[in-house]
Amino acid sequence: MKFLKLKKDQIEDFFDSIHSFGIVYAPVKSDGKISFRRAQNFSDVSLEYTRSQIPPKHVILPMEEPILKFREEEYFEVVDDENKVLLGVHHCDIIAFKMLDEVYLQPPKDIYYHERIKRTLIIGLSCIPDNYCFCKATNSFYTSDGFDIFLHDCGDFYFVRVATPRGLKVTENSKNLFEKVDEKDMELFVKAEKERFERVKGKNLWMIGDLIELRDENFWKIFSERCLNCGNCTLVCPTCQCFEVYDELEEDLKSGNRFRRWDSCMLRAHGLVADGHNFRERTEERLRNRLSCKLGEMRCVGCGRCTVYCPTGIDILEIVRALKE
Ligand code: SF4
Ligand code: SF4
Repeated sequence: MKFLKLKKDQIEDFFDSIHSFGIVYAPVKSDGKISFRRAQNFSDVSLEYTRSQIPPKHVILPMEEPILKFREEEYFEVVDDENKVLLGVHHCDIIAFKMLDEVYLQPPKDIYYHERIKRTLIIGLSCIPDNYCFCKATNSFYTSDGFDIFLHDCGDFYFVRVATPRGLKVTENSKNLFEKVDEKDMELFVKAEKERFERVKGKNLWMIGDLIELRDENFWKIFSERCLNCGNCTLVCPTCQCFEVYDELEEDLKSGNRFRRWDSCMLRAHGLVADGHNFRERTEERLRNRLSCKLGEMRCVGCGRCTVYCPTGIDILEIVRALKE
């Protein structure tokens, strides 16, 4: 790991320089919400933000994408070979990518995900926690890998951690923008991180997987009565990985395109199989399944999105507290 310093008044020049690596996606504010979008001008970028509504996951795993073209027995895969830069990714969302890697890069690798993640330069950014964040409880407060470069906001400057040879090359290409760090910079970095740590609530709420399995249906009914089955909680979750696949046929009925798009285990159709049987017919079964996946298997990074964007205010921490009680 190499440490450097980038003065805040140099960040725009750094932003301009990273376009030479690939297409830049960054947090952009629109209608009061932050989303990761293609950003050509620094004036469009909002680096001071708490959480994006949709996590940056969609840059690597689009909500909907073509994956195959086919004609009779022949087919070829549609693989995205564009170089990208993801600028401004928070610790929790980087850790979420590591969880997605465990799923998509296990043999046999998912080539669509693999091609995108390996061609994407990830530039992390320290966050501004609010009361919905509980990343300390999920051990996702800080990451030492999963990024190329990390920018820590220390007031007048960014304390920069460079974690990969690729990241090093990017900083060396803009050598004039970066400075060496001294002891005082290190102290300011530690102080900024300590302050960030103190702003996150929730300590040791976790490791309740067995408790989830023990709870009976009545427990889940209490929470599911408020659930609209809208699927928002899964769509905004940076670690949700489920997708469905469908084909669109041409008029000749022999050729066509295959697509995949995000799916949600909170939707009734998710558990429906060919003969009409549904493995998770009732809302309480779906809620229990989602929470078992997130809490039991520890596939939650404490970003708080599922609570913030649930239209009926179903709070994941409220469920955790009830389970512990
Ligand atoms: S966002 Fe809330 S209401 Fe919608 S499916 Fe999830 S828990 Fe249910
Ligand atoms: S379960 Fe909720 S808090 Fe946990 S990672 Fe998903 S959206 Fe964030």
